[in-house]
Amino acid sequence: MLLDTKAMRYLIAEDWRVLTAVELCSKNHELVPTTIIERTARLRGGPSGVHKSISALAKVGLIARVKEAKYDGYRLTYGGLDYLALHTHSLKKDVYSVGTRIGVGKESDIMIVADQTGTQRVLKIHRLGRISFRTVRSNRDYLKKGATGSWMYLSRLAAMKEFAFMKALREEGFPVPEPIAHSRHTIVMSLIDAFPLRQIAEVPDPASLYADLIGVILRLAKHGLIHGDFNEFNILVNENRSKNEDGEETLVLEPVIIDFPQMVSMEHENAEMYFDRDVNCIKRFFERRFHFVTSEAGPFFKKVKKTVGKDGVKRLDASVAASGFTKKMLKDLEAAIREKADTKGENGEDEDDYEDDSDDDDDDDDEGKEEQAEDDGKAPGGLLGDDARDAEVPVDES
Ligand code: ADP
Ligand code: MG
Repeated sequence: MLLDTKAMRYLIAEDWRVLTAVELCSKNHELVPTTIIERTARLRGGPSGVHKSISALAKVGLIARVKEAKYDGYRLTYGGLDYLALHTHSLKKDVYSVGTRIGVGKESDIMIVADQTGTQRVLKIHRLGRISFRTVRSNRDYLKKGATGSWMYLSRLAAMKEFAFMKALREEGFPVPEPIAHSRHTIVMSLIDAFPLRQIAEVPDPASLYADLIGVILRLAKHGLIHGDFNEFNILVNENRSKNEDGEETLVLEPVIIDFPQMVSMEHENAEMYFDRDVNCIKRFFERRFHFVTSEAGPFFKKVKKTVGKDGVKRLDASVAASGFTKKMLKDLEAAIREKADTKGENGEDEDDYEDDSDDDDDDDDEGKEEQAEDDGKAPGGLLGDDARDAEVPVDES
């Protein structure tokens, strides 16, 4: 699903207020009835102002109208949640503009963004629990379980967990991107100007890079953690050229580790399986790609387990769990990630399904608004229009 920020600058303060209201109400309502949106948004212009905003938001696909047996209502779309998160990043000056998409996963979009000074950063948008809207509609059980809203909940959890771990790891000096900001299902981090290991055909000294990577696995374990997806896509390799004492150029490879929503504790009931999987993933890749096979056996989970928390090392599994992440949240997220792993590549029809009914809104008395807005001569580049930038919008706790 594509993030298109074009409409962002044409939303006025009232629209943001209404969008925020729909978001807030989504926590308790599967579909948010118009009356509840009105009550929550409390616009000065009264209900007619709210209707106007609803219509504007539905037209650009940020909320979608759903007609149900009992009542009609609106729900937030992925696009709507994206806009709310970007709005927050923008107001906090963490993101000024959005550039190209560099990565598309089934459960995330990776965008290059920039701050006001033009410094590039990375915006990771989590898209966990993305399920086909058609499937939802044809499956009443799904609706009953409240799963339609779960994509939002799960994606938020993934971002929250990833941000917390990136921060904790960074503080301990691990080679990870710098976590900059977090809002809803998104995080902003520093851009690592390096290729994933996957794209590297040759390295001068595979044994040394291999040792570094196993070293990271062991260090994580000492802090009580297993990455859980330690593969060639989640290891970026910085190639630092430097001159040695004799003036010869040497290439130093420095791995940077990314992608943390699936991290697990060394105490996890399946810890050994996850640990071995990470180790074997690296072993297999090095053998296939670089024809490198280590002469050493292991590392073995049982032995490594004994190092957890040793030498006064901080237990990060415990400290992150203490940062507001409840056991239930961990369980929910874990189940979703496991489910995602099980179904990978099976349903290819989930693209954009949350938006596909967004334009059946029958209230189009403000046609032409967009064209009018398009040539109002605002400076290019920034995400938000002037109206919205100055607006006091009640932003979410995240
Ligand atoms: P996913 O959960 O979808 O696998 P990742 O966090 O692994 O998401 O990111 C997907 C891809 O995007 C990575 O393989 C990498 O190429 C790129 N990427 C992610 N974060 C960064 C970053 N901070 N700097 C540079 N590239 C990144
Ligand atoms: Mg990844």
